[in-house]
Amino acid sequence: MNFAIETQGLSKYYRQVRAVDAVSLRVHRGEIYGFIGLNGAGKTTTIRALLGMIRPSAGSVQVLGQAVGPNGRGPWRRVGHLVEAPAAYPELTVRENLEIARRLHDVPDKNATLRVIERLGLAAYADRRAGVLSTGNLQRLGLARALLHEPELLILDEPANGLDPAGVVEIRELLASLAHEKGVTVFMSSHILTEVDRLATRIGVIHKGRLIEEFDAEKLATLRSHRLEIKVRQLAAAQNTLAQAGFAVKLNASMLVLTEARAIDAPEEVAALLVNAGTPPSRLAVEQEDLEGYFLRLTGEKV
Ligand code: ATP
Repeated sequence: MNFAIETQGLSKYYRQVRAVDAVSLRVHRGEIYGFIGLNGAGKTTTIRALLGMIRPSAGSVQVLGQAVGPNGRGPWRRVGHLVEAPAAYPELTVRENLEIARRLHDVPDKNATLRVIERLGLAAYADRRAGVLSTGNLQRLGLARALLHEPELLILDEPANGLDPAGVVEIRELLASLAHEKGVTVFMSSHILTEVDRLATRIGVIHKGRLIEEFDAEKLATLRSHRLEIKVRQLAAAQNTLAQAGFAVKLNASMLVLTEARAIDAPEEVAALLVNAGTPPSRLAVEQEDLEGYFLRLTGEKV
């Protein structure tokens, strides 16, 4: 099987710091892979290794079926990338910056520059010097450069960085359309799960340098835990009733919370129990753990 990205035991150590620790990744072609981790988890280091920008301490990297090495080996004509703060020549305009990229990539079609300017919503800034762009527009310029040569694989480190909410949605739609219409593979990192869950088809979670979890995005809903939340006026009495019926009751922000399956699967029985005991609930609902909560639970961080 020829993967878009494949790493085996990829590791990078900086003295005692295991920035990336034995990461084995497989990204299928056409997939949108969300690479999620907290600050300092090892996302940027992994991405740098995918692009041959650092020398791994151990392990190997293959991109589009070709071995990647720090000596410049790799299928770079077919890959677009954006890593960390996008750099641009500050004295040159947006258009000139992209023109340079077009020539470097040997793209003969002169309209490619204009196309990508429009695609990234940069038309109004095309003749502005890159040095005076806002963070968000500089990010757009970085993305424009990554897309200019119509690569089949995009490797993007925190592509939503610096964008306003409308910009985040716009870029999400752009990446989705590239994947769905042109079959482009997207590997993107983020520290915000909610940012990628609507876009990614597969999600990998990196924590303290290790790939701790990988799942299909559609499984996300079932992986998140559920709980039955109950609001009731006579809190203590209701808590007592439930405890006597054998439920493990937790008190959370003046709500009663049940996490056992028999409560979540039959909330109507819990409601009946409370009504019969003369402590009817004013609200009773099965809630799903939110994405942030799930992510923090996965990484063992405190909510
Ligand atoms: P962020 O979301 O904050 O960008 P990240 O997931 O991209 O985080 P990395 O930048 O890959 O994380 O860093 C992983 C770990 O490796 C961190 O603890 C970082 O301090 C360390 N690290 C990264 N580069 C170096 C370096 N050149 N020298 C020493 N330590 C480094």
